[in-house]
Amino acid sequence: MPLMQFKDIIGQRQVIDRLLSSYRENRVAHTQLFLGSEGTGVFALALAFAQYINCEQKQEGDSCGKCASCMKYERFSHPDLHFFFPTTTNDKVKKEPKSELFLEEFREYLTENRGYITQNGWYEYLKVGNKQGMINVRDASDIIAKTSLKPYEAPYKIILIWMAEKLNDSTSNKLLKTFEEPPENTIIMLVAERYEMLLPTVRSRAQLIKVPKIGNGDMKQALRERLELEESRADEITLMSSGNWNLAEDLADNSEEVKANFITFRQWLRYCFKPDDYLGLNKFISELGRLGREKQKAMLNYGLDMVHLCMLHNQDHHNLVVKSGEELDFSKKLAPFITTENQEEIYKLLNEAVYHIERNAHPGILFSDLSFRLIDIFRAARAKK
Ligand SMILES: [Zn+2]
Repeated sequence: MPLMQFKDIIGQRQVIDRLLSSYRENRVAHTQLFLGSEGTGVFALALAFAQYINCEQKQEGDSCGKCASCMKYERFSHPDLHFFFPTTTNDKVKKEPKSELFLEEFREYLTENRGYITQNGWYEYLKVGNKQGMINVRDASDIIAKTSLKPYEAPYKIILIWMAEKLNDSTSNKLLKTFEEPPENTIIMLVAERYEMLLPTVRSRAQLIKVPKIGNGDMKQALRERLELEESRADEITLMSSGNWNLAEDLADNSEEVKANFITFRQWLRYCFKPDDYLGLNKFISELGRLGREKQKAMLNYGLDMVHLCMLHNQDHHNLVVKSGEELDFSKKLAPFITTENQEEIYKLLNEAVYHIERNAHPGILFSDLSFRLIDIFRAARAKK
């Protein structure tokens, strides 16, 4: 079950407080423009506000999440809630696309992403290839038809238009009157990422609600609680994601992989530093062989990154090393054995290995050969110490 109350929004306390007071003071504009870049939760915020407005048992500072209206909102299927968004043709809808034809997919996409949706993510979900979507004039007719009816059961009918910058000229011209003065008990919520892409005629008719990037403290907390990341990794991703939750999630996904690569690479180098343990090395190599080509390549590429980090340490560019915890420790320990001379050789070996794996080299032979060369390189580096 999706959770779309204010309490499920990441951070954005000030915006939420502002929305709550606008409701309390009876200042909710009939046409609102929620403006925030990707990953800020701008769409989720608009939706949570809509749910709050129509909640039958409002709590202190949030909707109840339990009343009949909230239940329908949480399924994105309230009869007085209407979504409009960019669409284009795909395998299912081969001509004349419009939002109504993709409602089922949109609800699924919303559910999967808990309201943190992105334009590219949506197009990928629809499998539309490189085509760009838009909100076209058929949607404008539907919006006018929806607003001409009285709400079925809620105090307010909500028209939620996501990616308002995708309203083309003819669509927005047709809607100007509606935006200017929506019918009674109708609230139009426009959600957009880029102000400069909006038609001036649209901008001028809506009350602006700016949604900033997610603050670092809120981001870190969300990474710890929602994705259960350990502290150091949450710190790292907070810094890299610059207030964009969608980016943070991608980085975290990726970070599981990075971790796996780190563990494998570290294990491998331990054998290369301890060349008398042939049995261990052989066993390790046969395990590597079972990983599959993509993972073998990812581990080698990780190795290339690690060598680069070691060079950064050696050149005293410690501030450029964006690693923490065990990875940072490991890079510091490895750095003394990476020299300007052998760095080039290691790069070449790892790159060649990637090349050969792509061309179906036998992993057992490839990794044995590579290991013996690394053993020689590190032996020479140690001899010089
Ligand atoms: Zn409720």
